[in-house]
Amino acid sequence: MQFRDLKAQYAALKSEIDAAVQKVMEDSHFISGAQVAELENELAAYVGVKHCITCGNGTDALSMVLMGWQIGPGDAVFVPDFTFFASGEVVAFEGATPVFVDVDPDTFNLDPVKLEEAVLAIKAEGKLVPKAVVAVDLFGLPANYREIQAIARRYGLLLLEDGAQGFGGSMDGQRACSFGDASTTSFFPAKPLGCYGDGGAIFTNDDTLADYLRSIRVHGKGSFKYDNVRIGVNSRLDTLQAAILQPKFRAFQEYELDAVNRAANWYTTRLQGVVKTPVVPEGFGCSWAQYTITLESREQRDALQAALKEQGIPTMVYYPKPMHAQTAFADLPPVSCPVTDRLCACVLSLPMHPYLGEGNVEFICNALKAQV
Ligand SMILES: *Cc1c(COP(=O)(O)O)cnc(C)c1O
Repeated sequence: MQFRDLKAQYAALKSEIDAAVQKVMEDSHFISGAQVAELENELAAYVGVKHCITCGNGTDALSMVLMGWQIGPGDAVFVPDFTFFASGEVVAFEGATPVFVDVDPDTFNLDPVKLEEAVLAIKAEGKLVPKAVVAVDLFGLPANYREIQAIARRYGLLLLEDGAQGFGGSMDGQRACSFGDASTTSFFPAKPLGCYGDGGAIFTNDDTLADYLRSIRVHGKGSFKYDNVRIGVNSRLDTLQAAILQPKFRAFQEYELDAVNRAANWYTTRLQGVVKTPVVPEGFGCSWAQYTITLESREQRDALQAALKEQGIPTMVYYPKPMHAQTAFADLPPVSCPVTDRLCACVLSLPMHPYLGEGNVEFICNALKAQV
């Protein structure tokens, strides 16, 4: 059994993907081929924003937005403590200070009450200027943007939605990657919409930011490639990856997003009352980058993971370490995030992908019930 079965997906889409790859080879426009702009238009229309700017990966996507907002030394950027390292790494990379904020134990996402407390504490301290919030759509569930957008407005903060895991999710009928002043996603193969290598994208309605991003992804180009008007980077989505993403994005819209939601329901129906299952609040839609249960203790979690492994069932711990406890952030002032501390000890992500099948879910749940 696979944790995320990319081979099954390829088998299902093989003829379309192979044809798309072959066409790129024959056309030989490997950088900035027509498929890149086509994909950008398709993604922007789906998400419901004006601009989609693809780039090299989801980490660059975040960095490029922070560059566009001129975030740097002396600025505080609020980041959930429970997330993948890149969400906070990019802040420090730009020379700004990440301020880690605890999360909600049910949704795993940024806790708006704690966010506001953290903003007020930074303001009161007066050493850093609160500039932006990176809100993460963890495991496919959009963060609580009803509250977070209001807080960002109240304190004049820019809102960056890290939708690396959130593509396909929704809140109040609006799609993920549309909630920030800018939003990003990743096409890393295991994400809800993945390519066959690295890839990423930025979404925004801000024309000025979009122009800036299209410039810096090609060495700060001006009117043409060898006219360089600012310092940029080299971060583009390859034509091959864009061509691979086109049929994968069609499958995502036609049935894969429904399929992961069906798989999540199979799990939740069987595990209700056995372990703590993921919570999708009223009005939210999830794209199930992960299906993550919460056990009662580290001992119980580790024993379950070992028992499932014995049965050939792969599981993962996302994430074993809070951001504030990472060695790379050892120089930051200490923060207290007890919810994240507990989640890192107690969470376990089960196999989840569109090709999982109810039989596999049944097998996993029976093995789990025999253990807890
Ligand atoms: C994967 C991920 C990223 C980084 O994306 P890459 O394409 O791997 O650079 C950023 N934030 C979160 C929450 C992620 O899960």
